Amino acid sequence: MKTGLRPSVAFAACCTILVLAFFMGSARAEDIVVSAQIGGDSQRTRFVAFVSKAVEFRAFSMANPYRIVIDMPETDIQVPGAKGRGLILSSRSGLLAPGKSRIVIDLAAPALIEKAELLPPENDLPARLVIDLARTTHKTFFASAKTPPPTPKPDEQQSAAAKPDAGDRRPLIVIDPGHGGIDAGAVGRVTNTLEKDIVFDFCRKLATKLEATTRYRILLTRTSDVFVSLDDRAAIAVKAQADLLISIHADALDPKRLGVKALKEVRGGTIYTLSEEASDEQANVIAQNENKVDVQAGVENEQTTPVVSEEIASILNDLENRIKRNRSASLAHYLIDHMKGKMKFNIRPQRSANFRVLKAHGVPAVLIELGYLSNEDDEKLLISEEWREAIASALGEAVNAFMAERQAHIPL
Ligand SMILES: [Zn+2]
Repeated sequence: MKTGLRPSVAFAACCTILVLAFFMGSARAEDIVVSAQIGGDSQRTRFVAFVSKAVEFRAFSMANPYRIVIDMPETDIQVPGAKGRGLILSSRSGLLAPGKSRIVIDLAAPALIEKAELLPPENDLPARLVIDLARTTHKTFFASAKTPPPTPKPDEQQSAAAKPDAGDRRPLIVIDPGHGGIDAGAVGRVTNTLEKDIVFDFCRKLATKLEATTRYRILLTRTSDVFVSLDDRAAIAVKAQADLLISIHADALDPKRLGVKALKEVRGGTIYTLSEEASDEQANVIAQNENKVDVQAGVENEQTTPVVSEEIASILNDLENRIKRNRSASLAHYLIDHMKGKMKFNIRPQRSANFRVLKAHGVPAVLIELGYLSNEDDEKLLISEEWREAIASALGEAVNAFMAERQAHIPL
């Protein structure tokens, strides 16, 4: 949608009062604490985000589910806190691709952008992006909604340092730090630490350990805090003809779905492989959480991203992928066996489900949930630098031992 549509006078007046009250909350300029805000009700809602500089932006709506997406050049953005209000359920922001930032607003009901403007910095306030939303019908929303614009391909996102040397014949291991950029992943219940930061640090440590053996080429699917879609992560491994894909996560269980008691009880690491049917309900829930991140980042719609069991079955049943399936399962088993003395595992440590990122054709692949950010004891470990260092070291040794045994049996 183009910016600058005529706002409703009544709405503008209501929201001016809201913003003034907010900005005049303190008498002294140095005491003014600014934070992004949401105001209004279920018919009209104003969204105010802070941005580090005045930039050109583009705002548009997306359906399935209802979202408003705002794209702009790379900028530091502060969006309102987790709790929604009125027409807004939640919002998030971050890097979508190098040089490109995005805000995604999840809507509670269909709504149109009545006004979208970026106010320049003034009186100690940073630049503000103001979006006025008005409730509309499903039909009108669908008529205005866009299909997602294409995101830059992984090749453009990879830094030169991350590219393996094509002439190098050593086995290639792709390490995939989950989430990134606008997709923060799970959030620690106690410390609010983000999954994307924990797993990125862990993967860099793991890469350093494996590189130190000089036996492997290592490729990271992201080398900064940037969004990479699940299919692009799998494509990086396929294109590079990787020998292994190791995806690292630290998810959280939803207390509304499983109850607070489960959060206290369910902890420890789990290693997942791809399967058409989930091994159990919990594996299914975790896979659904991980698979919806592209929708949350505003790069896909739900209806374009089904991961159906028939699709997975056909992927897994050709000859090349039967080998993939067997190697993935034996890697998962091997890693648990070699790490169980050093790392706390879940009561049922090896599971399977239809994780989109594990679909990399022909590439043995495992997804490791290091622990649950919904569990306080796990969170303490996950945020500890020493723990991450020790577990990355243990995982590096186990991967190295697995590859050495495999090479002893199957000469390259
Ligand atoms: Zn995750």
